[in-house]
Amino acid sequence: MPRTHAIEDYRNFGIMAHIDAGKTTTTERILYYTGKSHKIGEVHDGAATMDWMTQEQERGITITSAATTCFWRDKRLNIIDTPGHVDFTIEVERSLRVLDGAVCVLDGNQGVEPQTETVWRQADKYDVPRVVFVNKMDKIGADFFKCVADIIDRVAGKPVCLQLPIGAENTFKGVIDLIKMKAIVWGSEKLGAEFSEVEIPADLADQAAEYRVKLVEACVEMDDDAMSAYLDGVEPDAATMHRLIRTAVQRRAFHPVLCGSAFKNKGVQPLLDAVVDYLPSPADRGEIKGIDFKTEEETVRRPTDAEPFSMLAFKIMDDPHVGTITFCRVYSGKIESGANVLNSSRDKKERVGRMLLMHANNREDVKEAFTGDIVALAGLKDTRTGDTLCDPSKAVILEKMEFPEPVIEIAVEPKSKADQEKLGIALAKLAAEDPSFRVSTDQESGQTILRGMGELHLDIKVDILRRTYMVDANIGQPQVAYREKLTKRTEIDYTHKKQTGGTGQFARVKFVVEPNEPGKGFEFASKIIGGAVPKEYIPGVE
Ligand code: GDP
Repeated sequence: MPRTHAIEDYRNFGIMAHIDAGKTTTTERILYYTGKSHKIGEVHDGAATMDWMTQEQERGITITSAATTCFWRDKRLNIIDTPGHVDFTIEVERSLRVLDGAVCVLDGNQGVEPQTETVWRQADKYDVPRVVFVNKMDKIGADFFKCVADIIDRVAGKPVCLQLPIGAENTFKGVIDLIKMKAIVWGSEKLGAEFSEVEIPADLADQAAEYRVKLVEACVEMDDDAMSAYLDGVEPDAATMHRLIRTAVQRRAFHPVLCGSAFKNKGVQPLLDAVVDYLPSPADRGEIKGIDFKTEEETVRRPTDAEPFSMLAFKIMDDPHVGTITFCRVYSGKIESGANVLNSSRDKKERVGRMLLMHANNREDVKEAFTGDIVALAGLKDTRTGDTLCDPSKAVILEKMEFPEPVIEIAVEPKSKADQEKLGIALAKLAAEDPSFRVSTDQESGQTILRGMGELHLDIKVDILRRTYMVDANIGQPQVAYREKLTKRTEIDYTHKKQTGGTGQFARVKFVVEPNEPGKGFEFASKIIGGAVPKEYIPGVE
């Protein structure tokens, strides 16, 4: 089957936010208005569409980074879910790597929150164009202008308002569209699916005129012709404004700000319009960096179907209906199910079996995937998060994702031999899915040590072990005799007896320990405790 949408008509975008700002609610409304989700439920009563796992619903957080395909104004939207909790910053990073643009959702009452700052910085790092949605305008204490000021003060962003709110708190009715200079108001029927365009309320006319000038001036900065026309007294028309805002977003010249209340079904359709109008398509992204597999030289791929095929695996998860699936983004070329590809990151062959497009309520089998697509592959054998899959005859390794070192650890002790076996299988799988979750065995105590990015991160893994894999185990602090702190960068070169069931082999190990990097310092400490390294061989130990 040929491609149904041109590359220019794709929007691969994420919704980023501090926890509780309304990311899940906004996503759910998007899926409702785009017609793929038939049920709007309270996000925390188990009806949320993006949160698949029970524990996510119970805890009210989104952990997984699934992608969902939907359609708006004939454009194909892939929403890449990004978690909002600080322990999952790594998940946010990996999502940011595969999306082309983002919607940053703020709580209208809270403004820019700590995790908003973190994700904003990450989005800056990956150069992600974004628009801002000030949500919860119906909430007591909601203050749109304070949120706009926060974007300047807290994240050094450049907000430009495309809308102003009409009313606030329980009188919030809708928004003023500063491009059309009309008011958009939502009725309470049909969950906000219908809205009307009316004249701007008289008491807001001056404010609207003031902010319209700011918007127009920010726009004409993008284009000399538009600027000279403006100086001659000609304002850009709506189509020109859209084009100039699109340019501004892609150049990161400013961040358009919209507002609404996802929960009260107000403001989501114009937000979808903004995604379509201003966020980039995969074609806008330009060349994709990689390393040629054979020559090891830097190389680039263009985002077109005519190029050799390459894609990046960015998330592995269990689907209740399909089993293990690997979410991949196609960066160049196209791929058919049944094709043999190379996992160039591991130099392993893979066969592409079933390919699925994940919609809100169903999984669609597809035979082909094209540049820009985000598909879920079932049945891959050796592919891990961050790996490149590509055409074996023109192999490339796409730019790698960065995974930070874990910072905390716990010990698990299975209660029986059967639990031990289940634990082994489960941990191998969990570690393959999540590169910032590490598993090791303490040589001295024999304990299984789990390391992760924070308490919640590890709590969730333990929950999965218990619920999904039925492992009965005690969880606690690792049994360590003592801890040592390294004070300076230290090169370690030592010979130790390998713990290989008493065969008595000796192994030489070399590594460098950097103090002030808690992850690495920690890891080394447990090795000292493992008894393999005599203290006197370690310079720099306090
Ligand atoms: P997430 O953690 O960012 O995914 O946030 P959720 O979508 O789960 O929302 C957190 C809480 O805020 C839930 O209780 C929602 O019902 C509520 N909420 C979300 N959007 C709005 C809104 O527009 N107005 C109000 N008043 N509450 C909202």
